[in-house]
Amino acid sequence: MFPKQTQYDLVIVGGGLAGLVAAVSAREQGRSTLVLEKGRSIGGDGNYVEGAMGVDSYLQKQQGVQIDRTKLLQSELDYSHYEASAPHLKKLIDNSGATIDWLHDLGVKFSQVGGQGKSWPTIHSFAGGGHAAVQVLFAKAQAMGAEFAMSVSAKQLLLQNGHITGVTIMNEATGQTRDVTTTDVILATGGYVDNPALVQQRTPFASRLLSVSDGKSTGDGMQLAWQAGAAHYQLGAIQYGGGAIYDRQQPPFVHMASQLAAAATQEAILWVNERGERFVNEDVNDNMCHAGGAILTQARTFSILDQAAVDHLTNVGLYKVVGNSPVSPARFDQLQAEIDHDTTRGAKYLTQAATIEGLANKLHLGKLPTTIAHYNQLVQAGADTDFGKAAAYLTSVRQGPFYAVELGVGMACALGGLRVDEDNGVLNDHGYPVPGLYAVGNDAAGMLVGDTYAVTLPGSTAGYAAFSARNAVQHLA
Ligand SMILES: Cc1cc2nc3c(=O)[nH]c(=O)nc-3n(C[C@H](O)[C@H](O)[C@H](O)COP(=O)(O)OP(=O)(O)OC[C@H]3O[C@@H](n4cnc5c(N)ncnc54)[C@H](O)[C@@H]3O)c2cc1C
Repeated sequence: MFPKQTQYDLVIVGGGLAGLVAAVSAREQGRSTLVLEKGRSIGGDGNYVEGAMGVDSYLQKQQGVQIDRTKLLQSELDYSHYEASAPHLKKLIDNSGATIDWLHDLGVKFSQVGGQGKSWPTIHSFAGGGHAAVQVLFAKAQAMGAEFAMSVSAKQLLLQNGHITGVTIMNEATGQTRDVTTTDVILATGGYVDNPALVQQRTPFASRLLSVSDGKSTGDGMQLAWQAGAAHYQLGAIQYGGGAIYDRQQPPFVHMASQLAAAATQEAILWVNERGERFVNEDVNDNMCHAGGAILTQARTFSILDQAAVDHLTNVGLYKVVGNSPVSPARFDQLQAEIDHDTTRGAKYLTQAATIEGLANKLHLGKLPTTIAHYNQLVQAGADTDFGKAAAYLTSVRQGPFYAVELGVGMACALGGLRVDEDNGVLNDHGYPVPGLYAVGNDAAGMLVGDTYAVTLPGSTAGYAAFSARNAVQHLA
């Protein structure tokens, strides 16, 4: 539905997590505000978010969690190989706790705060997940008078003498277009993870990457900004979500809550490549982005499980706690049932054989028998002298039937493409802001990362979505 008026103080492009926070913040300032959302539903990938990053929030204070901000900044800069912007990252860190408190005061509920794998304890889990937070923010923005145009996309930014003067918008159902006048535009379109051509520019492995986004993060923000004179900043990090079931027949979200997927990717048992050779300490999955990177060093990756592991995971418990992930029960009590179901329907990503040799023959993994014999010796000795996996995760592979699950790499978001200043103003090639143009959330989060996503600072994209949206609104002309 087209908006009611033709002129607004502020137009926000994208009604995801960042766009909703921007809408509430803008109404706090009394600005007439239009939110364009190209989808039929609100919230974007914000609906799937587990939690948001914060430092010195009310919850951390309650729980006595203390983080040295300077050490945190230093370690994140190191992790990014200094490709992250130090002032931008510092501003996020310094304001992230207050942003969590602001969300909490609005009515967004948090259930816990902690870390993920080997990380800083910064992720504040949303009670009821991201969807619940999105609903609170949407209701609040509407109650405060922000207008939402659903199934309406921004197609072009209008400028006069280099200043933003409006936006050409399109009704996604009818294809009709119309111009809306405004002096300020905030781009909050969610980055480019669903744009295969852009992903391919960033990495040669695009065909093995499985987006778990809602499909609407097609890089519109950066393309609108580039047309308006913004600099082409580096297409930055893709958030590899670690190993994911490589299913060529069904979309990745089908496996989001799969216990087989969690067992194959998170339990650190045994991963081998296309020749059947082990190539990494499987507990690399403590950092899902590193796990994704490691998997992509091989042409194919298979996670090997034996029946003893399946029985243990199904009936006794996990070998490895699964961080803050949605799939984090005490046991994978559906694992055997999922294996049986997938076997019956002939799922191509799952191969099963009575013997190791049989499994190797089915998948042409010539070295698998030798690899497993050697791996079992390491398990018996209690030390992974090959790659240094923690002794606690050395689990032998001995009892048939044996299973191989083929892994690709999940990806949740892709950041970069735009350069913004400390006020989230979009910069042109000369390093100066395009007057009236701002980018927030994933559209601007390339400022925080280097060659890989900062999973060491868990919740950072959601935390940044909220921080940057408020930051931009506070600095509107
Ligand atoms: C499964 C999953 C789990 C995740 N979990 C976490 C987590 O736990 N913690 C974390 O920090 N991050 C997580 N993320 C990352 C997540 O992308 C961000 O935290 C957050 O959603 C970013 O907010 P955003 O507003 O930038 O993008 P989004 O929330 O995706 O919103 C972008 C919106 O813009 C709209 N849009 C796009 N183009 C246009 C256009 N041209 N016109 C109008 N509207 C447009 C889209 O339809 C969408 O609604 C997760 C992502 C996924 C996919």
